[in-house]
Amino acid sequence: MLIKTTQKETELKKIDLVLFLLLSFHFLFFTFVQEIKIMNREENLNQLIDETKTWDIAVIGGGSSGLGVALDAISRGMSVLLLEKADFAKGTSSRSTKLVHGGVRYLAQGNVGLVLEALKERGRLLKNAAHLAHDQLFIIPIYTWFDRIQYTVGLKMYDWMAGRLRLGKSKWISTEETITRMPAILQKGLLGGVVYHDGQFDDARLAVAIAQTADQAGACILNYTKVADLIKDESGKITGLKVQDEIGKRNYTIKAKMVVNATGVFADKILQMDNPAAPKMILPSQGIHLVLDLDFLGGQDALMIPKTRDGRVLFALPWYGKLVVGTTDTIREKPKLEPEALQKEIDFVLETASGYLIRKPTRADVKAVYAGLRPLARPKEGSTKTKEISRSHKIILSKSGLVTLTGGKWTTFRKMGEDTVDYFEQVTGEKPKESTSAEMSIQGNTSQLEAGHWGIYGTDAKAIKALVKEHPEWNEKIHPDFPNVLAEVIWAVRNEMAVKLEDILSRRIRILVLDAQAAIDAAPKVAKLMAAEMGEDTDWVESEQADFLKTASKYLIQSGMGN
Ligand SMILES: Cc1cc2nc3c(=O)[nH]c(=O)nc-3n(C[C@H](O)[C@H](O)[C@H](O)COP(=O)(O)OP(=O)(O)OC[C@H]3O[C@@H](n4cnc5c(N)ncnc54)[C@H](O)[C@@H]3O)c2cc1C
Repeated sequence: MLIKTTQKETELKKIDLVLFLLLSFHFLFFTFVQEIKIMNREENLNQLIDETKTWDIAVIGGGSSGLGVALDAISRGMSVLLLEKADFAKGTSSRSTKLVHGGVRYLAQGNVGLVLEALKERGRLLKNAAHLAHDQLFIIPIYTWFDRIQYTVGLKMYDWMAGRLRLGKSKWISTEETITRMPAILQKGLLGGVVYHDGQFDDARLAVAIAQTADQAGACILNYTKVADLIKDESGKITGLKVQDEIGKRNYTIKAKMVVNATGVFADKILQMDNPAAPKMILPSQGIHLVLDLDFLGGQDALMIPKTRDGRVLFALPWYGKLVVGTTDTIREKPKLEPEALQKEIDFVLETASGYLIRKPTRADVKAVYAGLRPLARPKEGSTKTKEISRSHKIILSKSGLVTLTGGKWTTFRKMGEDTVDYFEQVTGEKPKESTSAEMSIQGNTSQLEAGHWGIYGTDAKAIKALVKEHPEWNEKIHPDFPNVLAEVIWAVRNEMAVKLEDILSRRIRILVLDAQAAIDAAPKVAKLMAAEMGEDTDWVESEQADFLKTASKYLIQSGMGN
């Protein structure tokens, strides 16, 4: 009897211990999850208060170019400040075709060096940000035997150039297989297709993840902070910047050994701040994309049209369950943060896509339209043939020590950053450490993706799901047609430096570019939740909604749009 009681007591003690361990784990897990702050604006702004501090590098611009510079500089142990006047990737860097590519078109133009460099970077990005960039299959439909030979040989070269970073082999497929894989493709005269591999990604989310990575490594990364002026010493060398916090309306003065102008199509503005007589260097070239329902193409493979009537390439890519079709190449003289698609560009994309699809898309089928500006180098002697301007990047060192990075593409953002940081010695006389950015894993990186839409968050998905567990009311969908839930809004405010309603609905969750009307419908709910989380009042909610509506209306196809 005595022995029996002792056994029972031991068992009870064991249960107590298990319960205690479980409770402790639960407590620690939620405490940890709640306290994660991957990137915090207030904390980073506070770093600007000390005006005696001299940063090694101050980067102007939080698009792919500026973020590439910040990432590379932090990989070399430098002190880094990045200032973005709007949100990360608000400019061109959220408006791409979403390709991580070597550029089949550049190969056709004989630009082998550019393709080789980009293919190497493609391989690195798919490894370092496996949650945000993936291998995508493309099909070029073939209607002539000459095209069959031309594209089969060309794409074999493309495979070969990628070397050990190749994603998979390109191959010829029969007419039947082409139709099975792409049921909506125009079948008249179809001889078959060439299938090849390239990368696809989420541009704006990658921008945020790079910002977080640099921030976690010690960089001071800020959105909504505008560089208003350059500060120089008596000899004319740049020594610092005047900075405006666009949210708190406070001004700061910072010192830096090297200042990088990575402002994309706005580069001339900074160059003219430096030297009012500086000639214009940038020629903005606009490209638009239309977003349609995926069944216009059918299947999961992307369509590549290698030669449109103006000699360009047109893509139709599955992306988040929709079809992104583009792009165009139209010169726009003035840089704009929110450029608008022209009627003739919309017509061109619809007309070209219709030439390859059984069901012809019309304006009424367009869920969203977005436009972006390529920061191309202005060609000499007034030439305006933008498709012939080199897509490789350029770095210019001004007398004042200002380093300007322009051109290039998203795919090569890291290498562009590395090449720019290499100028540090020339500007400051100090030799920087070797770059290690090629090996840096981007925030959230994992190849073990959570199922469904959670995959895009990589390793952060678990923490967002924990928020849902803790607050079941945050499991409510933002919009019935999209899988995203309210907890993602909270997460973006807490850890992804989302400040404005548009940051959430356009760049953290990509609803605006996938379905503009759905984003407008979701706006009131998201604005209210953001206000509650950020401690803002109803005036804030109203003004955010009004601002968002103004922007979002540009993503809707309307009669009388553009000119
Ligand atoms: C239509 C289109 C499709 C494309 N598709 C692809 C593709 O599929 N794959 C690919 O690899 N590349 C693609 N590209 C190219 C790629 O998107 C661009 O090369 C890249 O995004 C340019 O980035 P950026 O940082 O130079 O410019 P931006 O992204 O425009 O960034 C510049 C930033 O500087 C900020 N800024 C300006 N002035 C100031 C100031 N005074 N203070 C602080 N901040 C300031 C702006 O707010 C802006 O956010 C495409 C480009 C276009 C236009």
